[in-house]
Amino acid sequence: MNTPSDIPFWQRPLDQLNDDEWERLCDGCGRCCLLKLEDEESGEVFYTRIACAQLDLDTCRCRAYVQRSQVEPECLTITRDNLPILDYLPTTCAYRLRSHGLPLPPWHPLISGSPQRMRDSGISACTYALPADAVSDPEEWEDHIIDMS
Ligand code: SF4
Ligand code: SF4
Repeated sequence: MNTPSDIPFWQRPLDQLNDDEWERLCDGCGRCCLLKLEDEESGEVFYTRIACAQLDLDTCRCRAYVQRSQVEPECLTITRDNLPILDYLPTTCAYRLRSHGLPLPPWHPLISGSPQRMRDSGISACTYALPADAVSDPEEWEDHIIDMS
């Protein structure tokens, strides 16, 4: 019989991950770092292809990760507590998948061994995102809405 330590951490329930494993679960796709619009009446969230100003489009990493909440007040920190209500996370998001008991996809870096397959599969937002300063007028964000389902 398998013991918890025999099972890769990404297959264990989220409440059994330590903080390091929790961080490593992220695929680094940057999709959650795309700017979003919310319908005031329905509360529906729409993703745009415009990247947060802190997202480095070359590395697809946050330039201010440790201080992200201070630097970008709109930045979403995903936690075990708020995950159940974050129904607008990308359907490919590792946290979303695991919270529904679904396996990580084959392109996830933890499975494939590198981020390359994720990029080749078109999952990485940094392969198509626009830099934040490319669309400075928020009135124009709507023109850049993308389907993230
Ligand atoms: S501050 Fe960093 S982690 Fe937060 S949305 Fe921007 S790029 Fe992503
Ligand atoms: S969408 Fe999920 S897996 Fe992708 S970068 Fe954001 S938190 Fe990580």
